[in-house]
Amino acid sequence: MDSVGVAAAAPDAGPGPAWQNKCPWGAPSTTSISCSLADVMSEQLAKELQLEEENAAFPEVVAAAEGPFITGENIDTSSDLMLAQMLQMEFDREYDAQLRREEKKINGDSKVSISFENYRKVHPYDSDSSEDEVDWQDTRHDPYRADKPTTTPRRGFIGKGKDITTKHDEVVCGRKNTARMENFAPEFQVGDGIGMDLKLSNQVFNALKQHAYSEERRSARLHEKKEHSTAEKAVDPKTRLLLYKMVNSGMLETITGCISTGKESVVFHAYGGNATEDKVIPPECAIKVFKTTLNEFKNRDKYIKDDYRFKDRFSKLNPRKIIRMWAEKEMHNLTRMQNAGIPCPQVVILKKHVLVMSFIGQDQVPAPKLKDVTLSSEDMKKAYHQILNMMQQLYRECNLVHADLSEYNMLWHDGKVWLIDVSQSVEPTHPHGLEFLFRDCRNVSQFFQKGGVAEALNERELFNAVSGLNITADNEVDFQAEIEALEKMNEDHVQNHGKKLSTFSSDGDPPIYDE
Ligand code: ADP
Ligand code: MN
Repeated sequence: MDSVGVAAAAPDAGPGPAWQNKCPWGAPSTTSISCSLADVMSEQLAKELQLEEENAAFPEVVAAAEGPFITGENIDTSSDLMLAQMLQMEFDREYDAQLRREEKKINGDSKVSISFENYRKVHPYDSDSSEDEVDWQDTRHDPYRADKPTTTPRRGFIGKGKDITTKHDEVVCGRKNTARMENFAPEFQVGDGIGMDLKLSNQVFNALKQHAYSEERRSARLHEKKEHSTAEKAVDPKTRLLLYKMVNSGMLETITGCISTGKESVVFHAYGGNATEDKVIPPECAIKVFKTTLNEFKNRDKYIKDDYRFKDRFSKLNPRKIIRMWAEKEMHNLTRMQNAGIPCPQVVILKKHVLVMSFIGQDQVPAPKLKDVTLSSEDMKKAYHQILNMMQQLYRECNLVHADLSEYNMLWHDGKVWLIDVSQSVEPTHPHGLEFLFRDCRNVSQFFQKGGVAEALNERELFNAVSGLNITADNEVDFQAEIEALEKMNEDHVQNHGKKLSTFSSDGDPPIYDE
């Protein structure tokens, strides 16, 4: 597709026929623009002349901006505005062509490719500008605003006596304005104005500023539109690149689609690729992408902040790294569970905030959550006993409390229950570990009691059965109070001895330490 022609004559085959219609040298089209770089440039020319002659007026040049850009009749070269716009379009076109060449070179014959599309100059006059135009006056936030606006009054001087500053200081002011152009968005190429000793009048500067701003907004909007139209809109470009790399390396065969979009993560299904020397890739994989937008993670602080395994690192980390830590935590916890023989996804690989694990389900169909499946009373009973067992194993062998255990995070597959979603799981000695366990117990108890499992323990019995503690309170409030007292005791122990009690249970289970 890349028959990149340089500059002049034939419009290149690039982004399709739109170019041909809009090419300044080609078929005419009617586009109106309200302000452009070129418009401003010609005004500047006028301003310079005017400076020489000490003539106050800003003549009609501005008016050139109004009216159609190019029509069939007016392709003449007498307008500075038009010439400048033509040049600008040529510049942009060459820039895009070069970009496409580089894109092609980088991608080569690769199975998957990287797109430079977002770096393209979406040309100012390419789109219907009517809806894109920003009303400058109405925008409250002006990112380019100078600290102190400098204006030279009409009368031509400011100050008194020997401090008088005449409008000739527009030279100084002009240089200042040129320097201020550096504050424009990086995509807005201002050239070496300082090197050329360019002096921009306030009016010219303001117009340029306005242009830079609306350009930025317009371009962002256009790119955004494209962004949202892609299939994997759930992930950002960086994540997409990570996923592509996994496919490109052969580790994954294909990523088929999205299984779930939650608040904190997006889960994809993929077919596994080739095994490496040290890894067997399951035939089907689940890819959990932890979202890199932070909003949803704010209320999760409490899980990780007080987890001593991550404590030292937590304070020093930036938000992006904290999100990676969630992924890391899920990986570690899954590994512990795997080692204890608890049915759960098997970790394949962790890359930044992307965790690849074995897929629970078959032929792209994920196993149903316990809340979505109707089990026979026999299976229901079986599931209950299995979960009771798993909770004990999790607590005693893995030294973990799930902390988000419910019918939403248990899948029914192959006639048994699988535990998933353990990024928030903590050790029982976490300052709120026992509270989390109690909440898990409540969820499980309620689910199975409602589900008609007669022998299902109530939440307090279940808590004791899992933890090996013997809290005797016979009502929820007192029970909760005892739990909190235990947690407090543990914290005090940490304060006094600098380390945690290895376990709450008194029956002498050996503690199991982190890998
Ligand atoms: P969260 O609830 O934090 O968004 P989960 O780990 O619970 O993340 O995953 C969301 C959903 O994705 C699950 O409810 C389940 O349907 C599906 N899912 C997650 N991991 C797997 C897996 N290994 N195999 C099959 N489905 C999975
Ligand atoms: Mn979940």
